[in-house]
Amino acid sequence: MLTLDSHAVGRHFLQIPGPSPVPDRILRAMSLPTIDHRGPEFGVLGMKVLEGLKGIFKTTSPVVIYPASGTGAWEAALCNTMSPGDRLLMYETGHFAALWTQMAARLGLGVEIAASQGQDDVLPHAPNWRRGVDADLIAARLGADTQHAIKAVCVVHNETSTGTTSDIAAVRAALDACRHPALLMVDSISGLACADYRHDEWGVDVTISGSQKGLMLPPGMSFNAVSARALEAARSARLPRSFWAWDEIIELNKNGYWPYTPNTNLLYGLSECLDMLHSEGLEHVFARHRRWAAAVRAAVNAWGLPIQCADPKVYSPAVTGVVTPPGIDADALRKLIYERFDMSLGTGLGKLKGRMFRIGHLGNSNDLTLLAALAGCEMGLKLMQVPVRGSGIQAAMDHFAAHPGGLAA
Ligand code: PLP
Repeated sequence: MLTLDSHAVGRHFLQIPGPSPVPDRILRAMSLPTIDHRGPEFGVLGMKVLEGLKGIFKTTSPVVIYPASGTGAWEAALCNTMSPGDRLLMYETGHFAALWTQMAARLGLGVEIAASQGQDDVLPHAPNWRRGVDADLIAARLGADTQHAIKAVCVVHNETSTGTTSDIAAVRAALDACRHPALLMVDSISGLACADYRHDEWGVDVTISGSQKGLMLPPGMSFNAVSARALEAARSARLPRSFWAWDEIIELNKNGYWPYTPNTNLLYGLSECLDMLHSEGLEHVFARHRRWAAAVRAAVNAWGLPIQCADPKVYSPAVTGVVTPPGIDADALRKLIYERFDMSLGTGLGKLKGRMFRIGHLGNSNDLTLLAALAGCEMGLKLMQVPVRGSGIQAAMDHFAAHPGGLAA
């Protein structure tokens, strides 16, 4: 066996914003024997998860499942719908949006980056990494594109690197206001099953998601929810694709099968996760995430540290970015917390490396787990001699005491 961590007892605190902790129920479901992926039982499993996923994406369209990480599903979305040289408008909200842009360029697509403008005192080198998508900027650019050269608008619903969400309905409204035919592609890899998401109602053409965040599964499975317009675009799109091609997969999915060997045991886990989410009810799932996020922010505010997301309207329910004071290396703080308290926090990504850390509060958690996680952060901050104003744990406890769980949260 590998030595997975140096702490012999107790549970490791996995407080990164995905992979999130996998519930025992899902681990048990995944331990069932692997079955013949072309046998009769498999089709039942396939049909169940393919149908069940539609409810999570709030769509009646097909949801394609890939045995790949989220990055694969990004590529699938682009290469199924685009042709060499096609132009994309991609909104940069953070590191993941930037990586998707880099991928599009590598695939030979023409990339135009939109980003919020303005100054920022806390993170002067990354002002747009503190805010969500500004739909007006998208409307302005699309309005000027009278020849309809832009073939798709790409945005990230929950920017995991910053803790910022974006208003996807507003982006749809921007496209509609300009009567622009571009496809709308949304990465909801860390938003799905944490924040409200409505593929059909928001007129999204391709939603990209992954297994290891709100769905509480291990990494290794990702998704494309695909609108009728996206399927139509795929008929004439000319980027090369084979493994990712939707048509063959959707055809075989009609009976619950795949053209290749799917990840059977992850599909058992997915089936269990769907049972859990559907029986809890999505609205309850979202409310629980909002409430946790508010408690974590109460703690960060009590410490007197800046929350990375600068716009309270778009605070993420899944992850909170915490900016460390200048001169305090956030990765050294994370290392100390890992070594002393057996807790993993998310690192600052890209240009924010060392300037911030991220507290994941998604999926399989509860009030006391989060309080313990905040205690680990607070002890780490004190041990690093970071000046903190007050007790974040107390603030989070007060929040939980004053806001009982449930739909009203
Ligand atoms: N997009 C977002 C918003 C993410 O959070 C991630 C991973 O954390 C990705 C894309 C990439 O997914 P993966 O690492 O599963 O390939």
